[in-house]
Amino acid sequence: MSADAEPELELVRVRVPAKINLALRVGPRSEDGYHPLVNVFQAVSLFDDVTAETAPGGEVGLQLVGEQPGVPADEDNLAVRAVRLLAAEHGDPGLGVRLTLRKTIPVAGGMAGGSADAAGALLACSVLWDLDVQPDQLTALAARLGADVPFALLGGTAIGTGRGDVLAPVLSRGTFHWVLGLSAQGLSTPRVFARFDELSTPAEEPLEVPDALMEALRTGRAEALAGVVGNDLQAAALDLRPDLADVLERGRRLGALAALVSGSGPTCAFLCADESAAIDVSTKLGREPAVHAVRRVHGPVEGARLIS
Ligand code: ATP
Repeated sequence: MSADAEPELELVRVRVPAKINLALRVGPRSEDGYHPLVNVFQAVSLFDDVTAETAPGGEVGLQLVGEQPGVPADEDNLAVRAVRLLAAEHGDPGLGVRLTLRKTIPVAGGMAGGSADAAGALLACSVLWDLDVQPDQLTALAARLGADVPFALLGGTAIGTGRGDVLAPVLSRGTFHWVLGLSAQGLSTPRVFARFDELSTPAEEPLEVPDALMEALRTGRAEALAGVVGNDLQAAALDLRPDLADVLERGRRLGALAALVSGSGPTCAFLCADESAAIDVSTKLGREPAVHAVRRVHGPVEGARLIS
């Protein structure tokens, strides 16, 4: 901790976005159990808020706001693991914090909500504890917590390679309008990857992002982007949740330019031509019995940011 004369902060609040995968290419499972991935992430305007408040000596507390079925409220929570890692690597064991998570990102929804909370907790505590941590050091810690955590810090639009954790920002013009169809039940990411292994014989050729996708992002044309988004995990997610195929089809018929499962699902993402098309799709999709809730979002948005 620094010893300058600034008054010590007692509360830090960070806002962190969810992500959509514009492209998710998955290679064959390697011997260590991991799949090589090539991801094009886009951060969208659906946020979790992470609040960090000072707490006495080494104590790490966690409070979840609202009903959050399936979110661990103990040491298994990714935000708590993030805080422990930060204290061990860049602070000292005497540092305490009381974390509060206000979640709007769907749990186990394929939108990296847990990763967002971990990224938010890293940023919030590095500020609360006044640690001397550089952004690249925070990113390195994030990668140790999970493949999607570094992107939640970075935000915008980016290509992730390796296990999804080596990131390169992508030039993207304008704003894309999305409608999200949420499910009442989450889908376990490991289960979706296991089904992917059962269903597919992935090609050995190198995983690549289509040039047309990069071009569509550069020009900001939703119609062009719609033709090139894709998700290698979609077939596995639909195999586990056949009802999602109807949701995707319904969104297309309502006028969405593209419909795809987000990450490992079950959230379905619908790319719309503009804001007014998105309002129309979201209103009508909300009447579908298979859709638990609908959110209208836009992207790209920035990554984890201090809001107080
Ligand atoms: P993934 O990033 O693996 O694709 P996801 O986006 O589909 O996951 P998450 O909301 O991140 O889904 O949750 C996956 C699981 O992680 C949950 O079922 C829960 O058991 C666990 N988990 C741990 N910490 C959190 C957290 N802060 N918020 C949500 N889930 C968490």
